[in-house]
Amino acid sequence: MLAGIADTQGIDDLIKLLLGEGYVVMGPGVERNVIQKKEITSVGDLPKGYTDTQTPGSYRLERDLSSPELFSWAVGPASFKNSLFPAKQTLFEGKISKGKASITQKEVPSHKTCFFGIRPCEVAGMAVLAKVMTDGAYPDPQAVSVRKNSLVVAVECGRPAENCFCTSFNTGPMADDGCDIIITEITEGNHRFLIRSGSDAGYAILSRLAYKPALPEDVSARDKVIAKSISAISKSIDQENTPALLARNIGSTIWANIANRCLSCGNCTMVCPTCFCASFEHSNGLEEDFSAVRRWDSCFDSAHSYIHGGSVRTSVASKYRQWMTHKLSTWVDQFGEIGCVGCGRCITWCPVGIDITEETAKIAEGESLHK
Ligand code: SF4
Ligand code: SF4
Repeated sequence: MLAGIADTQGIDDLIKLLLGEGYVVMGPGVERNVIQKKEITSVGDLPKGYTDTQTPGSYRLERDLSSPELFSWAVGPASFKNSLFPAKQTLFEGKISKGKASITQKEVPSHKTCFFGIRPCEVAGMAVLAKVMTDGAYPDPQAVSVRKNSLVVAVECGRPAENCFCTSFNTGPMADDGCDIIITEITEGNHRFLIRSGSDAGYAILSRLAYKPALPEDVSARDKVIAKSISAISKSIDQENTPALLARNIGSTIWANIANRCLSCGNCTMVCPTCFCASFEHSNGLEEDFSAVRRWDSCFDSAHSYIHGGSVRTSVASKYRQWMTHKLSTWVDQFGEIGCVGCGRCITWCPVGIDITEETAKIAEGESLHK
């Protein structure tokens, strides 16, 4: 492992080196008052001085112009998911001419992508999504190509949001598996960044930068950042017992209670980095052309559970139950792990502030009252 210390200029040097290596660098930036993923070309594109406040159903960004901090915010609504699995994607187009059909399959991107500044929970989300998109029986060509040509530069969390609960699943605030380069922003003493390699590819990149070697005091300052973040996280889900808890409570009255508040808008599924449902539209044009388009879909859409003759899940209660029990229970049966990484997005972006951690706790509480 290579570990160095950089200042803000050193972060710019890293971005420039990645660009020189032919990477399209997708990093955090501010757009429409939220932290978004966008193409960046210099350290000046990063959200310097921004902090966020996230509570159930609420997100606010603020900026302190005098702050040098680049990564003092938690995840925004967009994850890496749109790069691997675009929200809307034409799969193929075709034409019928003189009775003959010609089909053009859409090319998948082949350029190199660097996911820069993504959080440990997002790296964990990539691994969860990989079981469906790249490592399963039917690998998706776009996801395989993007992942094969990507480099992950993660930033450990120094300021988790109120809705984060990554500590429940060991998916943050520290970064580890799945990262090529790991950055920790240190504000104690001199403002600086501890930058270390997590893979051979990351080592090769970092060995070309003239960073000062990290000293033991830098490593202990990084450990303090992580310890402070862990102690700031108050929400949790019991990873061990929740899958069985939900399986036992399919008939709970909690689902009707949630349905009284849930708008069935699907926001929670759209922002979730691990939701992978899609629908397919096939269209025929006037000129005898045709196409197939894939779009993100949601368990909250009645059409999504339409089988022959009608939808399997028509009530809001059954839709929410499907979403939550899949994430936290049946995902384990299907993929051998929980489908949630504790990023908290579904809590922040739910317009009525439904909190998956609170609802889980209420189910456990209801069960213990009836014992
Ligand atoms: S279920 Fe919610 S907290 Fe879990 S990964 Fe999805 S958006 Fe994040
Ligand atoms: S739980 Fe919230 S975000 Fe999800 S569908 Fe219901 S109202 Fe929308």
